[in-house]
Amino acid sequence: MARLFAKSFYNSKAWKNARKAYIALKFGICERCGKPDAKQVHHKIWLNETNISHPEISLDFKNFELLCDLCHQKEHNEKYSPINLDLKFDDNGNLIKR
Ligand SMILES: [Zn+2]
Ligand SMILES: [Zn+2]
Repeated sequence: MARLFAKSFYNSKAWKNARKAYIALKFGICERCGKPDAKQVHHKIWLNETNISHPEISLDFKNFELLCDLCHQKEHNEKYSPINLDLKFDDNGNLIKR
C-alpha cells in the first residue's frame, strides 16, 4: 500500500495519467507472468521521500513495470522479507541484522 509520503503523489493527476497511459501501452498484460488485467504500475526504482519529487524517477515509463496483484505482492514481499534479508525488527520497529 502507498505509504504516507506517497499519498499526494498517488492522488496527483500526473501520476494517474502516466499510470493509465502505461497500462494502455502494455495492453494491461502483466510483464512478468503475462496475465491480463494487470493494474499495478510498479516503480522499478522504489519511490522514497526524495525521489518521488523527481519526475524522471516517479513518472518515467522507463521506471515502470506493469504487474498483476500477485506479481506485485511478490516483488514487494521478497524485498521486504526480513527472513530473506537476514534482518529482524528491533523494539523500535527498525530493521537490524540478526
Ligand atoms: Zn503477474
Ligand atoms: Zn511496487
